[in-house]
Amino acid sequence: MAYEKVEVYSPRSLAEALEILSQKKEQIKPVAGGTDVMVMLKDGALKEKELLNLSYIPELSYIKEKENHILIGATTKYREIRRSPIINAYAPILIEAVRQIGSPQIQNLGTIGGNLGTASPAGDSIPPLYVLNAKVKLQKVGSAREVHIDKFFLGPRKTVREADELITEISVDKMEPGSYYFFEKLGLRSANAISIVNAAGILSLENKTIKYLRLSLGAVAPTVIRATEAEEEAKGKELTEDLIERIAKLASEATRPISDIRGTAEYRKKATYGIVYEALYKILKGYGKKIEYGFEKIS
Ligand SMILES: Cc1cc2nc3c(=O)[nH]c(=O)nc-3n(C[C@H](O)[C@H](O)[C@H](O)COP(=O)(O)OP(=O)(O)OC[C@H]3O[C@@H](n4cnc5c(N)ncnc54)[C@H](O)[C@@H]3O)c2cc1C
Repeated sequence: MAYEKVEVYSPRSLAEALEILSQKKEQIKPVAGGTDVMVMLKDGALKEKELLNLSYIPELSYIKEKENHILIGATTKYREIRRSPIINAYAPILIEAVRQIGSPQIQNLGTIGGNLGTASPAGDSIPPLYVLNAKVKLQKVGSAREVHIDKFFLGPRKTVREADELITEISVDKMEPGSYYFFEKLGLRSANAISIVNAAGILSLENKTIKYLRLSLGAVAPTVIRATEAEEEAKGKELTEDLIERIAKLASEATRPISDIRGTAEYRKKATYGIVYEALYKILKGYGKKIEYGFEKIS
């Protein structure tokens, strides 16, 4: 299908972008990397006739430390996240996910804010954001609010963002030094594949006892979910094969998947069990990834 004709606004500052959005509201579609929006445009699925191009606003692209948090500007590209010494040092679980998104071409354009804006339950940066206790900053002319990630999504492709708001920043907690982490993705191939199931986890052990497990699952419910019963089961217990089996079972039971062209609901439930089991088993056997730098600064 031929491209629809659209008018593109390219503001040079956040203030200017918010002003345009306050006037046009749902008539205009924000676009950052365009890796989702351009597909919609090509497929004739874009209802808006105007685009608000965010890629010329330098103040929306950054990665900074603030005490025990990391602040990521909404238009920060996956490539920048992968290369960031701050993310590598304090939130490497995000790198694990981001390096499995699309392909190098997609990572050169795609942004973290765009993944949130698309609000797909299969979005790969989202499960790590759940276990990193992320907060999403939404700004409009004259005000800003912060929404916890588990309140941000209302369903597939639906968020609490109002038409006159932009996602401007994502803040995440730094990971605890010495904690284990994983991001596992099951797709139909190893690049440019939408997740059939994905899972992100952070496991903190004291000697052999679990201080906490944070576990989130994607593509198995209308939004990404936290497997809270599995997390509760893990708390205060020794990591053993028996416990891993119980955690993986509870994770699978927490899912409410659909059947689609990529997999049946039943397959997704089994796959959830499998990827959670495998990720924790690797940690038990000494092959898990562990955060090395913790709160130290790296040069
Ligand atoms: C070939 C291919 C492979 C892909 N592979 C993956 C994959 O493996 N995993 C995955 O998760 N995704 C994948 N995607 C989807 C896409 O790349 C990601 O969702 C990406 O993060 C979108 O970012 P973007 O900046 O390109 O978003 P855009 O296309 O610019 O925007 C996406 C949505 O977010 C909104 N938006 C963007 N920025 C803002 C903002 N600051 N404030 C408010 N709303 C905003 C837009 O209005 C739009 O609704 C793939 C896409 C393609 C084409």
